[in-house]
Formats: sequence, structure tokens, C-alpha cells
Amino acid sequence: MGCYLSMAGIENIIFESANHPRPHVGESMVTSSTRVFKEIGFLPTMEREGFVKKYGASWHAPANRGRVAIEFNEFPQEGIDQDYTYHVDRGKFDNLLLKHAEALGSTVYQGVHVKQVLFEGSYAKGVRVAFAGHTVDVPADIVVDATGRQTLLGRQLGVKKKDPIFNQYAVHAWFTGVDRGTGGSADHIHIYFLPVERGWVWQIPITDTITSMGVVAEKEEFKKANKDLEGYFYAQVQTNQNLKDAMQNAVRVNEFRTEGDYSYSMTTFAGDGYVMIGDAARFVDPIFSSGVSVALYSAKYASDQIKIAVQEQNFSEEILKPYEVKLRGGVEIWYEFIRLYYKLLPLFTYFIQNKQHRLQVLQLLQGEVYNRGEVPVLKAMRDFIEKVEKTDNHLFKGQLTEIPIDDLPELIGVAD
Ligand SMILES: Cc1cc2nc3c(=O)[nH]c(=O)nc-3n(C[C@H](O)[C@H](O)[C@H](O)COP(=O)(O)OP(=O)(O)OC[C@H]3O[C@@H](n4cnc5c(N)ncnc54)[C@H](O)[C@@H]3O)c2cc1C
Repeated sequence: MGCYLSMAGIENIIFESANHPRPHVGESMVTSSTRVFKEIGFLPTMEREGFVKKYGASWHAPANRGRVAIEFNEFPQEGIDQDYTYHVDRGKFDNLLLKHAEALGSTVYQGVHVKQVLFEGSYAKGVRVAFAGHTVDVPADIVVDATGRQTLLGRQLGVKKKDPIFNQYAVHAWFTGVDRGTGGSADHIHIYFLPVERGWVWQIPITDTITSMGVVAEKEEFKKANKDLEGYFYAQVQTNQNLKDAMQNAVRVNEFRTEGDYSYSMTTFAGDGYVMIGDAARFVDPIFSSGVSVALYSAKYASDQIKIAVQEQNFSEEILKPYEVKLRGGVEIWYEFIRLYYKLLPLFTYFIQNKQHRLQVLQLLQGEVYNRGEVPVLKAMRDFIEKVEKTDNHLFKGQLTEIPIDDLPELIGVAD
């Protein structure tokens, strides 16, 4: 956001409560991110810094040996001349991006915590920040909430709602000695399915030697296991033979970290004098590595509306709202894809291997979810599931889960 605004000549200040570099989950990207990096002039930095190039993704079933895989080069993307994206150490990546915004003209304050957004009537008019024991009110025409899963403004306004389906919990750490795979797949993200409800493990190469490994499952699974983080992590690893093999000589190099309560949406992303972007607006399950791309595109689309607002000196909800419509359109496609995926796991593998559907699935996995009307492959997945439901003795019948896919379930309660 800082980059886009500075490039448009709009004065902006970034308050960041952390001091970068700081660790962060969310290390594997989708290729659509490249378009934003190009627009803000950040691509040369990504190339120069030697992040691990990500050419594809591989999935491993719990019982079978072998994998299904996709490579990004199978389907060229408009405006993107690379057939890879990146895996990143988020400490390093976020720090570089912040520095880039500063170089383009954003004023950056690190170690400065935003305590609340200030309002006059319905209009956001600035922020109250705290640093070194002091509190200062800073006026602004527009406040952009980019506080990630802290969701500062969503909580302040009481518009944060929990996802009714997903309540996952992740335990992750970095390791050396992970066997990353053969056949050109060492630079892929590897996803290992676990034989528990919505359970999977990510394997993401961070450097030549360090690999990020994370176990994701419903929070109930962790509670039921009644184990400490390490015990739980390794017990899950044992349940997928390919994963067990990959981890045989792995040595952990940092502490286990956990992430929970991360599926939610704000009921609004834009109002008079404010927008929410990235995780501060909406978070969907990370199975397809969509988060950073959503954060980047939300900044891109919100900045388009902010430019209009500044030009017209009109900071009303009406001017800013088209951003929300655009972002919701994209994020809901991710969300539907994720729900269909969890509804019937073998379906995903079947669609990936099917000539007729493969490229369309790949397009989604590349992160091409914006400005689309109909997404035929999602309808095809839905129809397939309906057929399985209606056919007695269908091969996949026993594998259907309880996930509702017909109507979008209501968001529930107020999170946090
Ligand atoms: C288990 C798990 C796995 C994931 N895996 C992936 C993946 O592989 N690929 C992917 O793309 N995404 C992944 N994600 C999602 C990804 O982490 C996020 O979507 C992404 O980081 C969102 O970026 P953001 O800029 O919105 O928020 P963040 O990156 O969280 O940035 C928010 C910033 O705001 C600062 N901040 C917070 N509160 C305040 C405050 N009050 N005042 C000032 N500063 C504040 C924080 O210090 C932080 O630096 C994963 C998420 C989870 C939970």
C-alpha cells in the first residue's frame, strides 16, 4: 500500500509495531504476486536477494507412495514473464518490502504501535499511536488497517466474524536435513495429506538447507491428542508415509510456533475514511498459499480507490466501496475452491489429473481469482460432488466430508 500510494504522489505514513526483521508464518507464494512486484518495482529485489524459486506444487496422499504435481509453466499468465514464484523467509521479505516502500517515499515508523483508529462521527480521522511510553494522535484523511491477524479496526468496530466451518490450528518450525524430493520437485511446495479432519502438512524450502514444516488440522485434533507441541507434531508426521520418509533425517533449528483462530472475515472492508487490507480484512484457510497474494492485491485495489478519493477530496464509503466488491469477488473464489477441496479430497487429485480441468485448476492455483465472473471448473467440481452424493456405491462416496457447499454459511459470532 505504501508503495502504490507513494508512486501516486500521495503522502503516507506506515506505523509498524514490530521492529523488522521479525519472524512470520506464510512463506510460500503464488505466481500472481509477481504482477504486483512488477508494478511497484520490487521484482529486481526479489531476484537479487536469491529467494528460493518455486516452480510448482506437489500433493501426497496419506497411504500411497508417489505424488500428483503441477508446474506453473503449463499455463502462461498475462503480464507475467516468469514461470516461477518464490518461497521466502518472511523476516527478510517483509523487511525488504518495508524498505522498498520507504525508498519510494513512505514515512516508516517501526516499533510504534497503533492503539486505536480515531473517529469523528462515522469518519475515520486518524490514529492514536504509542511509542516509548508516549501516546500521540496523528490525523489522516484515510486510515488503512493493515494490522494482519491483529485486525485492529475490525475488533474496534465489532465487525469481525468467525468462519463457521474452519477452526484450524498450525504447529510449525524450520528444519535442516529434510529430503525435499526428486524428479524436479525439490523446489515445489509439498503438501502431505493427513488422515484426520482437514489435516495436512506443508513443506516449504526457505534456503538451500532450511525447510519450513507445518502441521495443520482442526484445533480439536490438537486438544484430543493431549500432547505437547513436539509430541503432537511428530505423531502427525508418522501418519503419512511420504512425509515420514522426508523427515527421517530432519533436525529442528528453531522453536515450534503455533497459529490458531485464523479463519474469519470482517462484515465490511471499507467505510467512511477507512479501508482494511490483507488479513485485517479477511483470512481464508492457507492450503493454497493465497494469503500474501490476497494482501498484495488488496493493497493494489484499495490504493486505486484511494487515488480517486484523494483526487476528488471525497473520502466517503461510497468512493472506497468498489475496492471491497473487487476483493470479495476474488477471496470468495479462493474460499469456494477451498471448501470444495475439503468436501472431497480425491476430487482435487482427479481434477488435477484430468486433461479437461487441469489448466483451469492450475489457473486458480496461480492466484488468478480477480475480475472473473463464472469459474467453470468450480461448477464442474460442484456437479461432480452432487453426482457422488446421489450415486449409491460411488467409489468416492465414503470420502465425502460434512463441509457445507451449497449455500455460503453465515459468518458466526464475533471473533476475539
Ligand atoms: C498457518 C498459516 C500458514 C500460512 N501459509 C501461507 C503461505 O504459505 N503462503 C501465503 O501466501 N500465506 C500464508 N499464510 C497467510 C499469510 O501469513 C498472511 O495472509 C499474510 O502474512 C498477510 O499479510 P498482511 O500484510 O495482511 O499481515 P501481516 O503480514 O501479518 O502484517 C501485519 C503487520 O502489522 C503489524 N501490526 C499489527 N498490529 C499492529 C498495530 N496495532 N500497530 C502497528 N502495527 C501493527 C504487525 O507487526 C505486522 O508486521 C499462512 C497463514 C497461516 C495462519
